[in-house]
Amino acid sequence: MVTARERSPHEGEALARSARLPHASDMHSPCPRWLGLLLALALRTDAPAAPAAFPAIYIANHFENASPLWWEVGDAGEIHLHLVYDHERDSPNRAAGHWHFQVQAPTGANLRLVLHNLDNVWNGRSGSPVSDRTISFTSPDGREWTPVETAHLPGNLLEIELRMPGPSLFIARLEPYRLSDLAAFQEEIRAHRDVGFETIGHTVMGRPLQMLRVGDPGAPHRVLIRTRAHAWEPGGDWVVEGLVRRLLAEDADARRWRREYSVHVLSMANADGVARGLTRLNALGKDLNRNWDRPADPALAPENHALEQWIERLMQAGRKPDLAIDFHNDEGGRLHVSRPETGGERYLANLDRFERLLRRHTWFTEGSTGASFRNPGTMGEGLLARYGIDACIHELNANWIAGLDSFPSARNWQLYGAQLAVVFSEYFASHGVK
Ligand SMILES: [Zn+2]
Repeated sequence: MVTARERSPHEGEALARSARLPHASDMHSPCPRWLGLLLALALRTDAPAAPAAFPAIYIANHFENASPLWWEVGDAGEIHLHLVYDHERDSPNRAAGHWHFQVQAPTGANLRLVLHNLDNVWNGRSGSPVSDRTISFTSPDGREWTPVETAHLPGNLLEIELRMPGPSLFIARLEPYRLSDLAAFQEEIRAHRDVGFETIGHTVMGRPLQMLRVGDPGAPHRVLIRTRAHAWEPGGDWVVEGLVRRLLAEDADARRWRREYSVHVLSMANADGVARGLTRLNALGKDLNRNWDRPADPALAPENHALEQWIERLMQAGRKPDLAIDFHNDEGGRLHVSRPETGGERYLANLDRFERLLRRHTWFTEGSTGASFRNPGTMGEGLLARYGIDACIHELNANWIAGLDSFPSARNWQLYGAQLAVVFSEYFASHGVK
């Protein structure tokens, strides 16, 4: 250690500059470590000419539903994309599994993308949103999407190899369904005489939660559908588009169905998460498909609170939903049936009948969860236990549709929605309990 008086004028200058650096201990060294590093770098003859060698590539992610991430280029020119987890409040749970970004690179360039941070924690256990079966989608314009294979690498990394068909290419986990897509669809159907909208509440960030009604308000049966509790899962929104378009067609079947039952849809339950490209949780870290065994916290989960209030208003008016479906995406695609400890016979019989009708009239083949399956706190379990509504979680397989031997495209999910219209009709025609 030397005192200030013993330092040379040159050292004094260096120390004055070093005061701006975080390593305060260097200030008292006669030859600061940072200065040595700087000299060593300046004297290196093999230092790379960074600007010239860096590939002409940019990852854009500042648009609607784009996923938060950071990226870097590896030694072999591969692009590493580091997804950002969203974290559940008061819980070890975390999730990343939504990806949606745009690659900008020269036409014809062959690129290798490597996705990182897929080590999720789900229900307190480690889990992964990707596997050997995971697919992804690409699109030059964000409208027409093509499925692409991926490779699941050691270390739980996901690799996507592609050749640039033009100067830019969107990459997404699934065909995106954005808030702007929903707004355009709402405008398309708004004027129909059998369509109504009601704002039932607002998200954490103040976005309106719109309940859509399709069908006669006085119809004897009601179906409640929710989509997008989990932001990365767009399947249900595509299904709803197909269902609503089929119900609003001007043919005799559609007119009859609109008299038999009304469909009530809360799309985009987690609108904040969808807008911001999150994977699972709402803007305050709440999982909107948990804690349904008790009233929702109006401050932390206003999206669920609004839905509860709406259900309770309907029940007070004697118009309780007969059936409720909460659409999700996963790698299994099954119907999640609740297993109440007692008194579930009528519910299980109804859900069994619903599944048989799905198998008869739609491409659904994945089946339902067995007697040992439990996932407490889901909307399916909560609506059954608290309100006596026949409710289920309907997963949609995010990798493959076995019944069509095809990829889960927006078009195939819209077809499923159209096929649901007759399922509901036959379900209520043989409905034992109103
Ligand atoms: Zn989900």
